[in-house]
Amino acid sequence: MRKVIEANPDVVVIIDEAYADFNEYTALPLVDEYENVVVVQTFSKSRSMAGMRIGYALGNEKLIKAMNDVRYSFNSYPMTRISVALGAAALEDEEYFRETTARIIETRERTKRELTRLGFSFGDSMTNFIFATHGRVPATLIFEQLRERHIFVRHFSNPRIENYLRISIGTDREMEIFLGALEEIIGSY
Ligand SMILES: *Cc1c(COP(=O)(O)O)cnc(C)c1O
Repeated sequence: MRKVIEANPDVVVIIDEAYADFNEYTALPLVDEYENVVVVQTFSKSRSMAGMRIGYALGNEKLIKAMNDVRYSFNSYPMTRISVALGAAALEDEEYFRETTARIIETRERTKRELTRLGFSFGDSMTNFIFATHGRVPATLIFEQLRERHIFVRHFSNPRIENYLRISIGTDREMEIFLGALEEIIGSY
């Protein structure tokens, strides 16, 4: 990131941290180090408030002022008073936030172990989803057989990722059902 930021001093570099709350790392300190960095975060993922359309940008005063100056003319997603009130309430409930993100992280780590056991490989996800491929069974086959069982993961037929599945982390019970189905599908192939 430093390389990109330093190579583009005349450009604003935006770092999208939609998933930052699901791990320990944040690029936020870079905002103080560089004048051309903006970090954006959202309430849509870790705060489970996707419908509220709450997001925010963190950057130096000059950049934020420039954004504020134009936002009533160009912002296609202005916040409603209800979303402002609910967003503020969410920020006050730090305990609930910590509890839910910790639970998702725990379920994610357990799911990773189970997927490895079933023969999947994947990048070491620090988000609320896992992008995985199986060593032997094609992704499309797994996708279709899961769908028959009314379990929905995502599959993209683009080159390089066509043999991968994007698996969102659900509740413990949902993941248990999902992993049981996977075990069956892979065992019978
Ligand atoms: C979800 C997401 C966002 C932000 O979504 P909003 O609901 O518009 O706040 C931004 N970037 C990535 C990569 C995301 O997954």
